[in-house]
Amino acid sequence: MLDKILIANRGEIALRVIRACREMGIRSVAVHSTADSDAMHVRMADETICIGPPPGTDSYLSIPAIISACEVTGAQAIHPGYGFLSENPAFVQVVEDHGLTFIGPTAEHIRIMGDKITAKETMINLGVPCVPGSDGGVPTLQDAQKVAADMGYPVIVKATAGGGGRGMKVAQTAADMETAFRTARSEAKSAFGNDEVYIEKYLTTPRHIEIQVFGDGKGGAVHLGERDCSLQRRHQKVFEEAPGPCITADERAAIGKTCADAVARINYAGAGTVEFLYENGEFYFIEMNTRLQVEHPVTEAIFGIDLVREQINVAAGLPMSFSQQDLDIRGHAIEVRINAEKLPNFSPSPGRITQYHAPGGLGVRMDSALYDGYTIPPYYDSLIGKLIVHGRDRPEALARLERALGELIVDGVDTTIPLFHDLLREKDIQAGEYNIHWLEKWLELQN
Ligand code: ADP
Repeated sequence: MLDKILIANRGEIALRVIRACREMGIRSVAVHSTADSDAMHVRMADETICIGPPPGTDSYLSIPAIISACEVTGAQAIHPGYGFLSENPAFVQVVEDHGLTFIGPTAEHIRIMGDKITAKETMINLGVPCVPGSDGGVPTLQDAQKVAADMGYPVIVKATAGGGGRGMKVAQTAADMETAFRTARSEAKSAFGNDEVYIEKYLTTPRHIEIQVFGDGKGGAVHLGERDCSLQRRHQKVFEEAPGPCITADERAAIGKTCADAVARINYAGAGTVEFLYENGEFYFIEMNTRLQVEHPVTEAIFGIDLVREQINVAAGLPMSFSQQDLDIRGHAIEVRINAEKLPNFSPSPGRITQYHAPGGLGVRMDSALYDGYTIPPYYDSLIGKLIVHGRDRPEALARLERALGELIVDGVDTTIPLFHDLLREKDIQAGEYNIHWLEKWLELQN
């Protein structure tokens, strides 16, 4: 068993891991930049260590700083959270070379899935249905035009190394292709240092449905159903729910089994998410995330399972605590992402929290690193909290969300809380009838 884990992250996800460690009797080590000396994850961990100046590249993304922090504190394992180094195969390799345990899949699996072209090829070979698209990368504009003409417009040009919704451009018609191709490439170059792009058929009314999988690293794997993350702004999720309002039990069982079998065949270890677009009853794979997702709590809520505990156990070589037969969905869960952003433009709104009050009561979970008087630094992601509600069914979860949002107080900075009050009044949201374009269209109508 592991007895000391270093968390290579900050904010709510660092707290999330610290909480699991504490319940498991494992000591936790928080790393932090000089901008985060007063952060809640630093206050809550058993040990803390400063790893550098505010910019992420000099602290939370600095591999030497994190490895040294393990050596200084005697931590045997690293939990990467999400973002930062969580999907960096070179980091995982260095961790292993230092005799430390990475809480997550192998460097090889991260590398395969981190390159979207290799990921799609791998998944096709494993029998997972994919979005129709180019055969690998598309090096020139002429190639792009040819692929798109053969496939038919609209198409989407996507960065092979993509993530976070960046490096993705839609060409509705042939006339848009040149701009889409060039901007996707230059965005990809500046965001990922790799300008390779590929092309997919652009689906016009899909939902984003993702399957949570979990592997034991020894050829065993299960699925924990789906999450519907279709409410997105700029390809970024803002509201997630489980189960998906439009997915039937038969569909869940079938696509879930396909995904669990696929990851079992590659001996995948730990938590993973197989992302699909879902349209007219068909699933189309788009990518796999080889880490814990921001929205994992909705899955935890409906299955009553602590995914971080399972990650730690599997990394320590222990078996998973459940099998597929043990997994039964109970009720419905919804998560909303509270960002420190000013509406209507979602511009970052860092600053001092003058008052914070977290909602409570039955079926309410608030994952946040905020506290009264905390100052949100300007250097990092704008996510400051996740409000997760669980009810016996979807209407109860929606009512609970409205009630909990009414209790939540975050004063001193602008947040996305008012957005969710407004969304809950919309008939389509109440009915669960929305696709990946719904939110953008709705936002346009509001402005
Ligand atoms: P990232 O890794 O940047 O998050 P994804 O491949 O996961 O990129 O796609 C993010 C979102 O972009 C999807 O949830 C969907 O809304 C949109 N998207 C991606 N591919 C397509 C496609 N082929 N057709 C329509 N929308 C797409």
